[in-house]
Amino acid sequence: MRALIMGPQGSGKGTQALLLSKKYGIVHISTGDIFRYNIEKNTELGIKAQKYIDVGQLVPDELVIELMKDRIIKDDCNVGYILDGFPRDFRQATEFDKFLYEKGLPLDVVINIEINNEELIKRISGRRICANCKTMYNISIENIDKCNVCGGELIQREDDKSDNAINKRLNIYHNQTAPLIGYYKEQGILITVDGLGSVNEVNNKINEALGSMWYEYYN
Ligand code: AMP
Repeated sequence: MRALIMGPQGSGKGTQALLLSKKYGIVHISTGDIFRYNIEKNTELGIKAQKYIDVGQLVPDELVIELMKDRIIKDDCNVGYILDGFPRDFRQATEFDKFLYEKGLPLDVVINIEINNEELIKRISGRRICANCKTMYNISIENIDKCNVCGGELIQREDDKSDNAINKRLNIYHNQTAPLIGYYKEQGILITVDGLGSVNEVNNKINEALGSMWYEYYN
């Protein structure tokens, strides 16, 4: 399965992408994670990306598109993948699609998680990540101050700290990324799922929608 998961920041798409990658044995590719890793390691890519990320702006298209073209042709992607956080605008979507079509490996499915802004802001402000093993938590849902898995310290992403950066990212999502929903719908590969509810509930909804899609496809 070559999949893409879409949804605004705080919709739970990262968590769902991880669950889907485990269930279907496919690679989870998150551009945000790639950038954060590179920032932590102080690489050239990290240094270039950080100034945009810290203020809630998109990293320039050229940089992201090249990064993803290189990533997607790595051998581990042969088993399938789920993209998380990419593409984020029309240029990224169309250039990447062209690249995939030329390789004869277009996307099979785009999962779109829908959720309202009020819930998103609550979730983003409560989002924490273990500094050690990167497990994700939400202190607006569970009362927790240390990682359940390794006891590590829970930290907040820099770009989740200021309301300004959060709002900027949500605006960018609605103005630049959300229009891609129509683009993928026209291709007949879009499924939309309501993102309200627990992680398991949303995951069940996604699996049901995927099941119906495959059923229609094969019958
Ligand atoms: P995320 O973890 O997906 O919310 O990404 C964190 C930040 O990384 C975003 O706010 C952007 O600054 C940057 N970023 C991630 N993916 C992309 C992308 N596809 N295009 C441009 N910037 C991106």
